Amino acid sequence: MNHLFPTYNRWNIKVASAKGTKIIDDQGKEYLDFVSGIAVNNLGNRNEKVQQAILEQLDQYWHVSNLYHQEPQQIVAKMLTDYSDGDSVFFCNSGAEANEAAIKLARKFTGKSKIITFKQSFHGRTFATMSATGQEKIHSGFGPLLQEFSYLDYNDSEGLSNEMDDTVAAVLLEVIQGEGGVVPAEAEFLNKVEELCKQYNALFIIDEVQTGIGRTGKPFAYQNFNLSPDIITLAKGLGSGLPIGAMVGKSYLKEAFGPGVHGSTFGGNPISIAAAKATLEIIFQDEFLDEVVEKGEYFKSSLHEALAGVECVQEIRGSGLMLGISCHVDVTAIINSLRDKGLLVLNAGPNVIRMLPPLTVSKEEISQAIELIKIEMAHFEMLNPV
Ligand SMILES: *Cc1c(COP(=O)(O)O)cnc(C)c1O
Repeated sequence: MNHLFPTYNRWNIKVASAKGTKIIDDQGKEYLDFVSGIAVNNLGNRNEKVQQAILEQLDQYWHVSNLYHQEPQQIVAKMLTDYSDGDSVFFCNSGAEANEAAIKLARKFTGKSKIITFKQSFHGRTFATMSATGQEKIHSGFGPLLQEFSYLDYNDSEGLSNEMDDTVAAVLLEVIQGEGGVVPAEAEFLNKVEELCKQYNALFIIDEVQTGIGRTGKPFAYQNFNLSPDIITLAKGLGSGLPIGAMVGKSYLKEAFGPGVHGSTFGGNPISIAAAKATLEIIFQDEFLDEVVEKGEYFKSSLHEALAGVECVQEIRGSGLMLGISCHVDVTAIINSLRDKGLLVLNAGPNVIRMLPPLTVSKEEISQAIELIKIEMAHFEMLNPV
């Protein structure tokens, strides 16, 4: 009996509890969690400081609506703007909603409608964000889509130069394509995007839904480059598992988002805001972020070493604790056996094994995961010689 729409291909795990880097099923089996609820639980499962903050807020007020001043929203907004290039924040409930807000704001502010995004991008499942997503399999059956989106080749500066003109309202991209295969943007390309946006009065929007909140060792992944986007969008890791999204934009954009222009009943919900505040207080610390960088480098170099002789491995890429092993083969079978052996990882397209451990992961846990991956890939290769 199943009363859910089958929109997810669910794993054969019934979750009983979760703590830190561990997920435990109803049989008592322990899994090493290198998924983090898809880049959400950046502090691991059930972080104690976040839990405490939620409990304290439960004793004050739950939902009152955005008709009221809520000081904690201001505090979280200040943290997001202090640590980014933005000045103003709009809170919502998900990544798609954050991108939806950014697309609406770009059209309203510029008075133009064309939005440029990239092939293999992922920006969400609502009509606007699905239309922004450069993947046919996500559009399939839902047409007609929202108009005036064009999908260019990622990392192709020349292609973008040819497409840019005065009709473009915004260019929207991820600095590492997550769902699209853990594909990093090149610095030169990103600088070109910013330059062309300035030249044609288009907004430069960076989707940090997956890459933000410390994932790459900076508060936001665009800070690994010399960039200053007009808007960044956030969600996933922001609330440590409570639903919250945010759009962070430059101050001149305020004029286009006045009272009644956009809104969200639950946006900036007090419980989610309490979780976000506690989350950012931990993650936006230099020592914490330095450790993410160090563990990420350790993870990547150890993976290179462990998988050196494995023929089906094409490339190991990504940054910080967002890594992908791109393979010449379909990785579904490998991911399934890793799960049976107690390691949870994700795919990103058919050929990439994606790893998103909590940022609090230990080096021992990273080593354990690598050992399992090494054994499993050698086993796979033995059964499927190239
Ligand atoms: C997950 C994701 C989204 C969509 O977020 P939802 O909260 O599922 O709506 C948008 N952009 C990127 C880059 C994502 O990884």
